[in-house]
Amino acid sequence: TAVPERAAAAPAAGLPYQDASLPVADRVNDLLSRMTLDDKLGQMTQIEKDALVPRSDLAAYRIGSVLSGGDSTVSPNNAQTWADTYDSLQQTALATPLGIPVIYGIDAVHGHNAVRGATLYPHNIGLGATRDPALVQRVGRAVAEEISGTGIDWDFAPCLCVARDVRWGRTYESYGESPELPSAMTTFVTGLQGDTLGAGPASVLATAKHYLGDGGTTAGVDQGDTQLSEAELRAIHLPPFKEAVRRGVGSVMLSYSRWNGVRSHADRYLVTDVLKGELGFTGFVVSDWAAVDQLDGQSGFTGAEISTAVNAGVDMVMVPHDYKKFLGLLRGEVTAGRIPQARIDDANRRILTKKFQLGLFEHPLTDRSFTATVGSAAHRSLARQAVRESQVLLKNDGGVLPLAKSARLFVAGKSADDIGNQSGGWTVGWQGRSGPVTDGTTVLQGIRAAVTDPSQVTYDRYGNGIDSGYTAAVAVVGETPYAEGRGDRPGGLGLDQEDLGTLARLKASGVPVVVVLVSGRPLDITAQLPDWEALLASWLPGTEGAGVSDVLFGDYAPTGKLPMSWMRGASQEPVNDGDGKTPLFPYGYGLTYGNAPEPTPTPTPTPTPTPSPGACTATFRTASSWQGGYQAEVTVENTGSGALTGWSVDWDLAGATVTSLWNGTLTTAQGRATVRNAAFDGALSPGARATFGFTATGTAGTPTPHCAGT
Ligand code: BGC
Repeated sequence: TAVPERAAAAPAAGLPYQDASLPVADRVNDLLSRMTLDDKLGQMTQIEKDALVPRSDLAAYRIGSVLSGGDSTVSPNNAQTWADTYDSLQQTALATPLGIPVIYGIDAVHGHNAVRGATLYPHNIGLGATRDPALVQRVGRAVAEEISGTGIDWDFAPCLCVARDVRWGRTYESYGESPELPSAMTTFVTGLQGDTLGAGPASVLATAKHYLGDGGTTAGVDQGDTQLSEAELRAIHLPPFKEAVRRGVGSVMLSYSRWNGVRSHADRYLVTDVLKGELGFTGFVVSDWAAVDQLDGQSGFTGAEISTAVNAGVDMVMVPHDYKKFLGLLRGEVTAGRIPQARIDDANRRILTKKFQLGLFEHPLTDRSFTATVGSAAHRSLARQAVRESQVLLKNDGGVLPLAKSARLFVAGKSADDIGNQSGGWTVGWQGRSGPVTDGTTVLQGIRAAVTDPSQVTYDRYGNGIDSGYTAAVAVVGETPYAEGRGDRPGGLGLDQEDLGTLARLKASGVPVVVVLVSGRPLDITAQLPDWEALLASWLPGTEGAGVSDVLFGDYAPTGKLPMSWMRGASQEPVNDGDGKTPLFPYGYGLTYGNAPEPTPTPTPTPTPTPSPGACTATFRTASSWQGGYQAEVTVENTGSGALTGWSVDWDLAGATVTSLWNGTLTTAQGRATVRNAAFDGALSPGARATFGFTATGTAGTPTPHCAGT
C-alpha cells in the first residue's frame, strides 16, 4: 500500500469549513471539495488505538476514527491518562493538511467501564427492571460527563437488543425482552448526546446497536441466525431503533448476526432501504469489530467483502487492526468502480456531519473540567439510586425482608464481597473478572454500613460457621463475569457447585435464607427456590452495592419489575411474554414490602358491632409478615350516628410481643407491650374510619380483632 502524503503543517485558518458560523452542510461540502480520495477512505476507517504502530500512521493514513475495544487500556489506568492519550492522538490528527479531527469511540456500556475508578451502573437488564426512562436519561448524562472527562467523543451504547432467549451471553446488555422496554430506554441516547448533539456541554455521540435482530438468534447463540418473518422482525426488533432514530441517535452499529441467513453487514435492504431510507437515519453506520473481514466466514479482508459491506450501507469500518491491507483493498474497489464514488462521498458526508455537530473542529481536545466527575460522589449516588430501583423482589415468605438493622446476620456467597462479580463483563476489560477490579462498595460493605452494629454481621464466603442463632442468612450468589459469546450457556443455567454448597450450609442451620442473585439473566433456580425464604434479583448492579442493602433493610421498598420472563429451566427457553408458556415468574413480576403473598391463611375478622350512638365494625385487612415477625392491620369504621369514643380493639393474640403500633388516622395511638386489648384514644366521627395495626415478633397465633366503644 502506498503511504499517502505525509503529515504536513496544520491548515491555514479562514477556510469555509473552519468557519463555525456557517451551516454544517456548507462546511461539509467545502471540506469534501478539498479532500483527496485517500482522505476520504481514511475517514471511513476505524482503528484500535493499540494497533496504531507507529502512532504517526494515524496522520499518514488519514485515519478518521480510533477506538478502544474491550481490552484496550492506558497505564496507569486513570481518567487523567486517558485524557492525555486522547489529546496526543488528537494532536496527531490535527497536524494533517486539512486538520480533520479524529473521533474516538469506546464501549461505555454501564458507565465509563474501561476506566478504573469510574462509576459503574447496573447493566442494561437492571436498568430495564427500573422501568424508569427518566432515570436512564440521567444515567446517560452522567456517563457522558465521565466520558467527556477523558476526551472521548463517542459511546458504543446503548445496546437496543431485544433479548429473546436468556441462554444468550449478551442478555444482560438488553433492557428487556419486549420491544417496548428498549424503546422506552432510548432516553439513554438523549442523555448521552443532550437534546441536540453538540449543543450542550459533554455531548457524546451515541450508538444504537446491534442492527438488527441480535437478540433474536436461534437458541440464543451469539452472532447466530435470527429466523423470523419480516413482519416478526419488524414487530420485535425494529421498534427500539425507530425510537432511537427519532431521538436523533448519531450512529448505528450493525450486528454480527444474520437475518434468515444474510449477515447484517451485507444486508443492503435492512441497512440502506430500511434504516437510512424508511427510518430516515441521517447519522453514520459503523461495522462491528472485524465483522467485515469475517463476512465470507474467514478472517482476513478481501476486496469483495469490503465492497459488499460499503455498498450495503456501512459508512465506517471498525477494521480494527490491519488498516494497511484494508485501505489498499478499499482503494482498489473504488478505483475499479465496484464501489461508486457517490457512496464514498455519502459515507464521508455522514461522518463529517457528526464531527462538525459534535464541535470537534472547534474543541478538539479534552474538556478537563469534566475529568473530576469520573467516579464522583454525585454520580455514585445516582448509580446507587439506579441499583435500588433495579432490584426485583421475587419471593418473600414469612416477610423475612426487609431485615431489621438490629438483626444478627450471616452473610455468605461468592458475590457478597466482590466488586468484579457484581459489575459483570465489560468492566476494566472485555470479559470483566472476579475480584477488586475497580473501586466501589460491595454488597457486604453496604450491609455493614447499614446495620446498627456491624459486629452483629458475620461473613464467610462459603457459609461455614453459621448456627441457628442468626436472624437470617443473606446469600449473594450467581454468575461470574463474562461477555458476548463466552457467556452463551446452551446447556444449562443452573447455579454452580460453590453456590449450591454455600446455600446448603445456610439452609442446614435452619435460619431463614435470603438469596440475592447477582446474575446477567434469569437463572435456573426452580429446584432450589422452595429452600429460600426470600429471593431478590439484583442483576449486575455495578459499583454501588449499597443500593442492594438499601432494599434489604427497607430504606427503599422494592419497585423493580422483571424485564424478562423467568424460565423454569434452560430447556423451556425461549420463554417470552404472551407466548403461552408458563414461566417460573412472568415478565413484569415483582413484589414489594406489604404486598407479599400471605403464607398462612388469612384470619377471618369477627366484627362486634355495638349499638348507637357510636357503633363500630372492625375489618381485618391484611396479615403479613414483617421483619421476621408479624404485621396485622385493621380498619375500624364508626357505623353509628354519634361519635365513637373510648373504643378499643382486642387482638386476641397469643404470645407475640408488639414491637410497634401504628396508625394512619388517629394521632394518639398507643399500645401495650404485649398482645391483647390494644386501646386507642380519640373520637371517631360518624362514618369515619381509622386504620391501624401493629408489628409483632414471635408467633402471633390468630389475630381476631374486634372493637367496642361508646
Ligand atoms: C461488540 C460490540 C462492541 C465492539 C467494540 C464487539 O465485539 O460486539 O458491541 O462495540 O466489539 O468493542
